[in-house]
Amino acid sequence: MSDCLFCKILAGEIPADVVYENEHVLAFKDIHPKTPFHVLIIPKKHIATLNDLAPEDTALAGEIFQAAKAIADEQGFADDGYRVQMNCGEGGGQIIFHMHLHLMAGKKFSP
Ligand code: 5GP
Ligand code: ZN
Repeated sequence: MSDCLFCKILAGEIPADVVYENEHVLAFKDIHPKTPFHVLIIPKKHIATLNDLAPEDTALAGEIFQAAKAIADEQGFADDGYRVQMNCGEGGGQIIFHMHLHLMAGKKFSP
């Protein structure tokens, strides 16, 4: 998707502070962090929103959560806990239409 900001990050056209990468996913720091540690985990395949997740993307969705777990562990947040969040569509607060999981940590969240 040539007009997608996160596809441009994947293509190296826009810089990002990458914290994790494998064959299927990339994770980088949010440019406007809402918590002391805030990264976005994206599939390398362009999927606009969770609504566009196809049955054949099921393993890829799992990769996103495996990456969240690995990053939380690597960064030392696994024991204290952390929050993951996905916004879907404008009403869900989604601004960038390339599906992504927010991983936020470094503070105590209220329930
Ligand atoms: P959404 O509201 O779509 O779930 O979240 C999009 C996130 O992308 C926001 O938290 C925003 O700060 C972040 N963001 C927007 N533009 C950029 C950018 O150019 N680089 C990075 N690293 N994050 C961005
Ligand atoms: Zn994209």
